[in-house]
Formats: sequence, C-alpha cells, structure tokens
Amino acid sequence: MTNKPRKIQKLSQNVINKIAAGEVVQRPSSALKELIENSLDAGSTQIQILLQKGGLKLLQIRDNGCGIGFNDLPLVCERFATSKLNTFEDLETIETFGFRGEALASISHVARISIITKTKDSNCAYQAFYSEGRLVTEEYHLGRTKQLPQKVVPRPSAGVNGTQIDIKDLFYNVQTRLKSFERSTREEFLKAVQVVSQYAVNNYKVAFSCKRVGDKAFKVNTTAKGDQLDTISAVYGNNISKELLKIEIDDQDLKFRMNGYISGINYRRIKGSHFILFFNNRLVENRAIKKSIEYTYSMYLPKRMKPFVLMSFKIPGENLDVNIHPTKREVKFLNEEQIIKSVQEMVKKRLEETGATQLFATTN
Ligand code: ADP
Ligand code: MG
Repeated sequence: MTNKPRKIQKLSQNVINKIAAGEVVQRPSSALKELIENSLDAGSTQIQILLQKGGLKLLQIRDNGCGIGFNDLPLVCERFATSKLNTFEDLETIETFGFRGEALASISHVARISIITKTKDSNCAYQAFYSEGRLVTEEYHLGRTKQLPQKVVPRPSAGVNGTQIDIKDLFYNVQTRLKSFERSTREEFLKAVQVVSQYAVNNYKVAFSCKRVGDKAFKVNTTAKGDQLDTISAVYGNNISKELLKIEIDDQDLKFRMNGYISGINYRRIKGSHFILFFNNRLVENRAIKKSIEYTYSMYLPKRMKPFVLMSFKIPGENLDVNIHPTKREVKFLNEEQIIKSVQEMVKKRLEETGATQLFATTN
C-alpha cells in the first residue's frame, strides 16, 4: 500500500471476462446447473450427464431438446446473446431459466467447450468448438495452434436430434481455483449429483441420469414414467419417500401456490438437511424460508434432527425478482413474511394431522 494516488487504468477485456466468468461459474456444479437449465429450456425429456474428476476434467451433458440452428452457432458463447429475452419487460413474464446469454459465454472463458447439436429440420448434426466467447477450430481448441482463420465454420457431423455439450478442463486458466477444487473432486462430484437430484425430482417428467466416467452404476437415474413420489423414491430412496407427506397451498389473496413433500416426524436426519426449494421451477435458496420451516420442525423433532423438505412455489412473475444474484441462486418475492407464515402453518397442520405433538413449548 502507498499513500500516493495511483493511476486508474481500464482492465483489459480478457481480465474483465475472466472476472465475470468467475462470478457465474463458481464451481463445477454451478456450470452444471446452467447446462441443465439450458437443456430444460430446450424442451428436453431426456438429460444425461457424465462427469470426470468432479466435473473439472469433463462435464458432459446430452439432451434430446430442440437443438441449436446452424446459423446460431457463432453466437452461442457470445456474451449477452440469447434466444430467450428481447426487452427488459420480458423479464417479468419469462418462463425460461436463461435470459442473459451469459452462462456459456462465461464458461468459454474458463474452459474448453465443444458442442454437437442437431435440430429436427437439419439433415445432419454440426460440431462447434468455443474459446473466449467465440467459435474456434478444433486445432485451437486442443491447444495445438494459436492461429485462427478469419472465419471459423462449424463442421457437419453424425448426431441425433438434440445437443451434446462437453466442457473440458474447467478452470485450466484460473490456477488458484483449479488448485482449490482439485483437492476436493469427490466433494465436487457429490455437489453435482445433488444438483442433478434436485432438478430430477422437480422435473419428474424428464428422465435424468448422471454418472462418473468409467462407472457402471448411475448416481442418479430416473425414468420419467412415474409420479413425483416415484421419482423422489428413485433419487433419495424408499426410506425417505415412505415417510413423506404431501402438502399443497393455493392462496388467492397472497397470490401464491405451493406444492411439495415434507417428511413426517418418523423421518429423522442427523447430518445435513434435504431442503429443496423451487420458485417458478427455478432451484433457489431462501434463508428465511429454510430457517422458519426448520424452526417449525424443531418443535416436533428431537434436537439437531432435520427434515426432508421439497417445496415448489408458483407466484406471478411480476412478484418475483430472479435477477438479484450473479448465479440467480437467490430470489426476492413479494409478501415474503405472510407467505412464509402461511407455509409454516400448513407444515404444522400436516404434522399434527399425523399425530405429531409439540415436544417443546415455544414462544412463536
Ligand atoms: P441463456 O440461457 O441465458 O440464453 P446461455 O449462455 O445459457 O444463455 O445459452 C445461450 C444460447 O444457447 C441459448 O439462448 C440457447 O439458444 C442456446 N442453447 C444453449 N444450450 C442449449 C441446449 N442444450 N439446447 C438448445 N439450445 C441451447
Ligand atoms: Mg442458459
């Protein structure tokens, strides 16, 4: 530090891009979340995920969605290029997960991307490689040359309808982040599995699978054939699903609907909690809801025992702000306090209907 004023300089575009990428892609599972959302936005009914080294070496996702048209391929990894949003006002009614055209652009600044995609109207699939926001050649992608031709054209390839995206060597050019994740690839793998599990149970009409390269067994494997409870069972096991109670609220005054499953008092989890929250189908976190529901449970469960909670909220788009966080992980919504109260009461009611009694006198 010095007390002399220092010259202000503009950051180079390269540095700006890497900083922005670091915010959106905090870890392999946050990249995976973006990829899953893109596949869902594309109307896929089948999503297959393959991971190597916790997603650092390879994060592959294959879907059977609408695919990307040949003419759109040059724009896929360009920042703020999206097929989903036109005007700012559209944000209020948006039904897709994506809207900023930022995910793939960000990933392309910290990893090597290749895409094979086919729309149903096209005779063949196309393969494209990306780096630093733009189309590159395979040679460049593999690091064999630093030269790029004036114009790079995606090449025809064999492939079925849908899209396969391979993200390789995530954070290869951000050494500090790479080092910190390399030490915990197992933890990163489990985080990725958690993200897939959560999307799988909320999108139970989509068949999800997820496994590690080289493994025979899937970590997640859902069929899209049953109802939501069947899917919860397939993902989290029968021991959990048989203890679950269905909950539903349709509140016209507060303008929200909520449905989901919560565990009864016989289900007791000691380590970590399953608290899965969706708002208009977006996987989000909300500390206020989590705290209040866990508080409600604490009246019925022995100390330190945690419930299983899956809640899916639907509220009018104009009451929900999805754009307050770089990873879109947190949301703000109108009538938060009253809505939480109403949900708390519902949980209480359901638990007491099944014979739960309060273990502790409470002040609230
Ligand atoms: P956003 O989702 O905000 O538009 P992304 O960077 O995630 O931004 O994706 C950029 C564009 O690439 C999307 O708008 C979409 O048109 C296309 N795209 C990405 N993934 C897929 C996919 N799996 N299937 C079809 N199109 C996709
Ligand atoms: Mg997206």
